[in-house]
Formats: sequence, C-alpha cells, structure tokens
Amino acid sequence: MAEKKKVAILGSTGSVGTQALDVVVNGKYETVLLTGGRNVKLLAKQIRQTGCKAAAVSSDDASRELKILVSDLNVKIYSGDDGICEAVRECGADVIVHSISGMAGIPSAIEASRTGSRLAIANKESIISVGELIFDNIKRFGGELIPVDSEHSAIFQCLLTSGAISADGQGKPEIVKRILLTASGGPFFGKTREELSRVTPEMALNHPTWSMGQKITVDSATLMNKGFEIIEACRLFGVDIDRVEVLVHRQSIIHSMVEYIDNMVMAQLGAPDMRHCIRYAVSYPERLFVEEAGLDFAAVGSLTFAKPDTEAFPLLNTAVEAYKKGGTAPASLIAADEAAVGAFLAKKIGFNDISSVVAKTLDTVKVYPDVTPDAVFNADREARDAASAIISHCKKGIVS
Ligand code: MN
Repeated sequence: MAEKKKVAILGSTGSVGTQALDVVVNGKYETVLLTGGRNVKLLAKQIRQTGCKAAAVSSDDASRELKILVSDLNVKIYSGDDGICEAVRECGADVIVHSISGMAGIPSAIEASRTGSRLAIANKESIISVGELIFDNIKRFGGELIPVDSEHSAIFQCLLTSGAISADGQGKPEIVKRILLTASGGPFFGKTREELSRVTPEMALNHPTWSMGQKITVDSATLMNKGFEIIEACRLFGVDIDRVEVLVHRQSIIHSMVEYIDNMVMAQLGAPDMRHCIRYAVSYPERLFVEEAGLDFAAVGSLTFAKPDTEAFPLLNTAVEAYKKGGTAPASLIAADEAAVGAFLAKKIGFNDISSVVAKTLDTVKVYPDVTPDAVFNADREARDAASAIISHCKKGIVS
C-alpha cells in the first residue's frame, strides 16, 4: 500500500481548519501538525482524534495549558510565532493546509512556501499582501501552491481543464479573456446605503449561503471579501485587474467562471461547502470519491446573476484602487478592514462606517513600494493606528 499523504493543518481550530480536519480524517491522511490560537481544548481533542505528534500554539500560556491537557501523549509542542514557523519547517508534511485567519497568518505562510511542500492556502491575506514573495519561494524551493478559497479553486480548475495553466508550466494563459468572479452578495443584497445604516453586527453575522468565521462573514456583508478576492485572483493567476469582473450570483452554486478569447465560458459548480475545496486542494491532481449525494439541481431551481451595487458596497472599488496603488497598499487595506470590522463588532461604529474608515485610512497611509515582510508589518501597524484614530472620530452610526 502506498504511504499515506502527510498533512499539516495550520489554524486547525478555526472555521476552515475544523472542516479541513474533517476532510483529512475522512480522507485517511496522516496528520503531522496541528496549530491553533486560543481554543486549546479543541486543539487537544483534535490531537487525540488524529494521533498527531506535533502541535503549535500562539502563546506560552496556551502552550502550558495544552501540555497539561495532552500530558499522557507524546506530543511535541511549539509556541509563539517563531514556534509555529519552526513546527512548519520540521513537520515534513506533503501538504500544508494554511487556514490561520488574517494578517497573523503571514509569517507561517512565508515559512510554508519555503518547505518545498504543497501549500493549500485558505489565508487570502498572505496572497494579497506578500503574494509575490510566496510565489518566488514556491518556485525556488520546488513547492506548489493550490488555492482553497472556493472562487479561486473554481478558477484554478477551469484554467487547468482548458489548458490555460498546466502543472508542467506549459499552459496558454493568452486564451483567457475574463475571469467572472461570483459573489453571493451577502445578507444585504439589494439594500440601499440608507437601509444599510441600520445594520447591526447580529444581522451582518447571518450569511445566507456559506458558513464561515465572524470576520469573513462581515467582510462578505460589506463585499470587502469580494474586493480581497479580486486581488487574490490577479495575484494567483497573473491576470490584469480590468479583466476580473464580479458577478452577484445569489445561489453560490457556480463558484466562478472563466471566459476565453472565443467567448466560450467554463464554470465550476457544486454545493457551497468549503470541504469540497479543501479536499480538492489536498488530493489534487486526484479526485476522491465522496459518499454523500451530490448537488440536486432541480431543488436549486434557478441560477441568477446581477451586477454588484458599488454605491451601496463601495469597498469593491476601494480594493481595486488599493491594488492599483501597488506596494504595501493591499496590506494596508487588510489592516484597515480588520480594525474597522473589529470596531463594528464592538458596536463602536456603524455598518457604513466600515467602508468610510477603510477608504479614509488608505488615503492617509504611506505606501512602501518594496513589498518585504518588514515593509508589510510597518504598513500594517501604521494602517491600524490610522484606522483607530479615524474610528475614534466616528459618531456611533448604529440606530438601536
Ligand atoms: Mn471565497
């Protein structure tokens, strides 16, 4: 029997991470490393479930707690950012599923890109802010990068099937005319900016089709997430930003499409379930048999499409502007958004203030042209500082 594929899951206690663990356990892979943040109890449970021999947590406190919880097992425990990177270097995984959320995932994503292993990446922040660095490392160390984000997994599958990209580097990218990036539209599709001013965190956290973490759910409601995904698509597939079009598709059945120079269009479809995308990123180029029934198209009934309303959801355009500015501007965009969403969830600012805070922050901060990890961390800190100053001047926008 062939040896089991060794898989590491970074951020295994989060929303994508728990689904990745589900895929890895059911796919009979060997789990060689699990990392988590604060949810040490769940991490300990996952270590028992998988028999994993290495784990990493972000703080010394969490590490002490975890050591007690798994004291009867032989598990090597790493702690802190450096510890997580060390664990990534030492784990010997064939596939590293990277599902740590936010800018906090950048150091480990860079480290993973230097291992020569496959990096199945769900952390879009690292692609957006230090993508070039990661791609260079992947090439230099002989690794491979497979997207986990559902839209990008869809685009990847279309490009691969059409021959626009190829595992041997002999693809024909010139056959691509446009990328049609689908968006669910979030819970507030069709609402005006005036109506949006009354949106509360509870309302924003209720996503119609996808089940995700809090931050990304709010980002889906503001369409910031789709703005991030435009940049992610440009970076991953080397397409010009003017050739990426966002299309609101409420059912989230088509996960994205590619239009070719002859106006033929290919789409990838399926139920909106992150486990599909994770499974494909781990098993690629193979496809694994799945027991459960596939999508019931008759039950879905119809697929609809609409243009996004950029007046009500201005962050789509803000993302395009940040990308065009280049340098560290996309990193500042992410940092400003993390600060603004945090303030919104803490009820310090209203829903519409999220987009104003992000746009104003981007107008204020300095852009460093050279994207080094240091420049990104400086840009990140400066954007957070600028955003909190702007937030403190916001009048509370929520009508209770
Ligand atoms: Mn997505």
